[in-house]
Amino acid sequence: VPDPVPGRTDGSRQWFERAKESLAGGVSSSARLTSTGPDPYPLYLVGGSGARVRDVDGNTYVDYLAGYGSAVLGHADRQLAEALGAVLAAGTMFGTCNTVEVELAELIREMVPCAELVRFANSGSEAVQGAVRAARGYTGRSKVLKFEGHYHGWSDTLAVSNRPDVAEAGPYGAPRSVPHSAGIPAGVVGDVVVCPWNDPGALRAVLDAHRGELAAVVCEPIVANNACTMPAPGYLALLREECTARGIVLVFDEVCTGFRTGPGGAQALFGVVPDLAVYAKALGGGLPIAAFAGRREVMEPVAEGRVKHGGTYNASPLSATASLVTLRRLNRPDTVKHIEESGRRIMEAVRRAARDRGVPCAVQGVGAMFQVVFTADGEPTRHYRDLLRSDQARHHAFRHELLRRGIHVNAYGMACWFVSAAVTEDDLDETCEAVEGAFRTL
Ligand code: PMP
Repeated sequence: VPDPVPGRTDGSRQWFERAKESLAGGVSSSARLTSTGPDPYPLYLVGGSGARVRDVDGNTYVDYLAGYGSAVLGHADRQLAEALGAVLAAGTMFGTCNTVEVELAELIREMVPCAELVRFANSGSEAVQGAVRAARGYTGRSKVLKFEGHYHGWSDTLAVSNRPDVAEAGPYGAPRSVPHSAGIPAGVVGDVVVCPWNDPGALRAVLDAHRGELAAVVCEPIVANNACTMPAPGYLALLREECTARGIVLVFDEVCTGFRTGPGGAQALFGVVPDLAVYAKALGGGLPIAAFAGRREVMEPVAEGRVKHGGTYNASPLSATASLVTLRRLNRPDTVKHIEESGRRIMEAVRRAARDRGVPCAVQGVGAMFQVVFTADGEPTRHYRDLLRSDQARHHAFRHELLRRGIHVNAYGMACWFVSAAVTEDDLDETCEAVEGAFRTL
């Protein structure tokens, strides 16, 4: 495996050698493991400003990882830093209720169509767990339907069929429930029903086969973890219809789409309102905060305390303040417009370069989050199995060429580019130039 940036990232290489002695696998998240990832060692980023980041060797990059989408205002945003500085000076952790969480929940109710009641957590995984438990408590049922390839965090609840290989996955129309990890009990896996995405016939068949058993249908409305696979026209509305007819709680996992694809997230973008939605990433502007929110009736068991959900750090003053500053900015039309238009410009640059070079690829998603997928026919992916057939090796080559030209994106072709509000004309010019250069080498 080649160095990400040959000869210029020795510091990162050395830090990783040192890390392996004391961190399990040298990392703090399995998604960053090198044994299953495309790079021999990770980049150690030590600072950032706006849309730019700097690594330990002093290289700078225009950053489209953006903290996995959480650094939606960019890095070291001044307004955010000042607000957090005030919290640091006043004390960061009291553990009681605080006034900021109230204002924050009010703002979320204003922005998000489904949000009548809100609960805060610290990570997407936790908030997904909360939403699923709420759905189970509300319906009195235990099974949950998820879609093959969709990702909902690392906790047992839904860590099923995130990334099965072809041999494990089973037949397309009736995929197996494949545990994503060793250590997940069979009983938990058995409660997760898996279905292919974007296929109305397959959906109805799976729903019929589990009539009366399903508490929830959970999905990523834009599948950020499947290279921003878009919902087929009418598909989200079909999910809504079927769930309503069958008394199933519809949950949108908006951890990636939330507040980034517009103030109301994917549910506002597509005009389909779920019963519950889950938020993290952009919600915190880079600090750890997450939420599940939804219809009063479905959240009522949580409000009453019949469905339990806890957390020492939930809506802590630092995280809640970061969130309030971030959401107020994302609630302004000019912020969202800038993010969306900037992303569209990069997407167009990729399409132009691909056309000029005769390289088939799909550029899919929306401006705020998108991915380049090397499908054989250049058609966008419809579901996870299409992605499995795409040319991942070519994606890695493309990404390495971008990295050498100072553009930093997620290491995985299944993930996506996240655009921050801090991106400038210069950043975009440099990015589009790098894209053209990268395609010249493919
Ligand atoms: N849902 C989705 C759609 C995600 O992309 C992620 C994280 N990548 C999660 C849930 C889990 O969030 P966290 O990593 O904060 O636990």
